[in-house]
Amino acid sequence: MALLEGEMYEAYRAELLKQYRHLLRTLGKDLPKEKVKLIHSAFDLAARAHEGTVRKSGEPYIFHPLAVAQIAAGELGLGATSVVAALLHDTVEDTDITLEDIEYRFGPKIASIINGLTKISTVFDSVDRDTSSQAENFKKVLLTLGEDLRVILIKLCDRLHNMRTLGSVPDSTKLKIASETMYIYAPLADRLGLNAVKLELEDLALKFTDPDTYRDISRMLVETKRVRQKYIREFIEPLKEELDGSGVHIVEIKGRPKSIYSIHRKMQRQQIPFEEVYDAFAIRIIIDSPINLEKADCWRVYAVVTDKYRSHDKRLRDWLSHPKSNGYSALHTTVLGPKGRWVEVQIRSKRMDDVAERGLAAHWRYKADMPGQANTPQDQAFENWLNTVKETLANSDMSALDLVSEFRNTILGEEMYVFTPLGDVKTLPVGSSALDFGFAIHSEIGLRTIGAKVNGKLVPIGQELRNGDIVEIITTSKNRAKYDWLNQVKTGRAKGKIRDFLKSERNKLSIQGKEIMERLLRKYSLELHEANAQKLTRHFGYPSSQEFFHAAASGGIKINKDLLFSILNQRTPVEPTEIKGSEGAAPQTAKKAPKQQIVIGDDHDLPYALAKCCHPLPGDSIFGFITIGEGVKIHRTTCPNATKLMSQYGYRIIPAKWKDESYERAFEARISVKGIDDVGIVSRMTDIISKDLEVNMKSIHIESDGQGSFSGKMEVLINNLNHLTHLIERLKETHRYIEVKRLDEV
Ligand code: MN
Repeated sequence: MALLEGEMYEAYRAELLKQYRHLLRTLGKDLPKEKVKLIHSAFDLAARAHEGTVRKSGEPYIFHPLAVAQIAAGELGLGATSVVAALLHDTVEDTDITLEDIEYRFGPKIASIINGLTKISTVFDSVDRDTSSQAENFKKVLLTLGEDLRVILIKLCDRLHNMRTLGSVPDSTKLKIASETMYIYAPLADRLGLNAVKLELEDLALKFTDPDTYRDISRMLVETKRVRQKYIREFIEPLKEELDGSGVHIVEIKGRPKSIYSIHRKMQRQQIPFEEVYDAFAIRIIIDSPINLEKADCWRVYAVVTDKYRSHDKRLRDWLSHPKSNGYSALHTTVLGPKGRWVEVQIRSKRMDDVAERGLAAHWRYKADMPGQANTPQDQAFENWLNTVKETLANSDMSALDLVSEFRNTILGEEMYVFTPLGDVKTLPVGSSALDFGFAIHSEIGLRTIGAKVNGKLVPIGQELRNGDIVEIITTSKNRAKYDWLNQVKTGRAKGKIRDFLKSERNKLSIQGKEIMERLLRKYSLELHEANAQKLTRHFGYPSSQEFFHAAASGGIKINKDLLFSILNQRTPVEPTEIKGSEGAAPQTAKKAPKQQIVIGDDHDLPYALAKCCHPLPGDSIFGFITIGEGVKIHRTTCPNATKLMSQYGYRIIPAKWKDESYERAFEARISVKGIDDVGIVSRMTDIISKDLEVNMKSIHIESDGQGSFSGKMEVLINNLNHLTHLIERLKETHRYIEVKRLDEV
């Protein structure tokens, strides 16, 4: 291939071989010969299949699957089969290789993993404007969870490498990939116990959505590193002797700062500066104990620590007896450390630490080393989770959008433990109600619930449960599900069962409604064919004709002869109104037709509105958010709502950019001012605004606190970001002690 010739080619080749050898070394010396052969043949096939293709960075494509395989082996601790699949993961999708080729050469197991990976079609290189297909993509990702878990693990490696190399793709694509990562991949990594992967994905997503914040926080972390390390030494010093004498073998004591993203979140949520967050780190004590002693040894270390430092009585977390469903287990406590600071201490064994960092892959590897070992509480918790996943996914009549949001809320969220009166434990997402609990026991119990007792007290079925509650469900002999129940449950399982039940009821009503409408139309010699049904449905604002018919049967549709004829365009009297309407609007549109100033995706004509929360200006970095019913809203990427929108509704984000031209209309911007009272300052400011810079002021509101300082807010009409920056600079010049800021920044 002409792309790579001569010296360049030689350099790539040498680098490629180096990385390939590194991969083999990562898998270990004891790798059986036939596995090495298999890996070699996968590498060879992938290299030839991708030959001539380059990534956005300019690198030959084969470096990508090789890097994904390296992440799988080195960072997730996956074995040879996964490595083979990782090397081949893009071949069926992007090259001439077929699934049959893969099966013929590598057998059915590898082929089925590749098939799963191919089904999760990549959105990486395409800016896809169709939101439902985005949701479809997520749905596919989730569906693979029910298949071989390695599919999703390799997909996460793939995503991690794509995020690490996101720098070289176009800006608009960055935003989309990053928000997708926040929306589904990071929570998924968390759920699978891949803590390190989750933290890195979040940090990288922040890096590409808000580069300034990312850079600031990482710089400040570097600057404060020494102070942190000194504190950790002071904390550990007095414990050393006691720990040595305790007979427990301490492998490591370390203190790691929070991730950049979690620091950012905390600063945002609590509206506090970096200085108040950076020292919030946990001290981790890792011990080496045989599996049957690790629990007892953790408690011994706990005793040593809390003998020295006073512990916070409400902050003990015993994940030893009740591991999280992602396999996490450890003992957490918070103690009053030197300088009167609360410090979280995490105590866990080397095995637990490995599981915490590398997730279930590591967990299973330990298990494989100890055949015959009984199921640990960790296995149990995870298996329960996987069953819930499968149940939710089995509910396949949900739309992709519903399924994905359901999944995020119930499967990826926090969870709690609730007990039956007999002491059986059910794991439910935080926020679940008594009714959810009923459905968790059995769908028949759920459907027949009339009430519940929580800790012996009678409560309504929608009552939110708390961790540790003991719940008794009271049932009757008949199914009682109603629409209103959908608002009283949180879990996908309960919602699905309620919907199924209502649907069967609903179908009966819809058929009745259709008959009613048919009779009505027949009365005027009209026919209820598809087109007429559509017109009626649209006129009354129902999403489907089935729902329209349902409303008709339940008496929700008021219609008379005139209205019916006008909806169906059967009579001329309707037309003059229409013409009048468009006449009235025409001159206005001609005069004030707002020019399209923003390109959304690749579309130059898609309608949009500027968001009221952050007032974007030309020059601001922006994105589009697809709202329900209000079209595309344009927000700034630094909008206080942006992170939430991006992380919760990533699939509804579409890239947007300003057209490169000047704009006739002015844009609204809001500015806050603060300063020391000074005679005439307000008039000096208004002069600058209206005279010097010819800015139109919409409102100004300035207040003195009566103690020598003032603060206020103004709304101005501005042409673009430069214009605003200039205005702010000029306002700052009016006084030595004045603070002028654009509002609506994070
Ligand atoms: Mn890939």
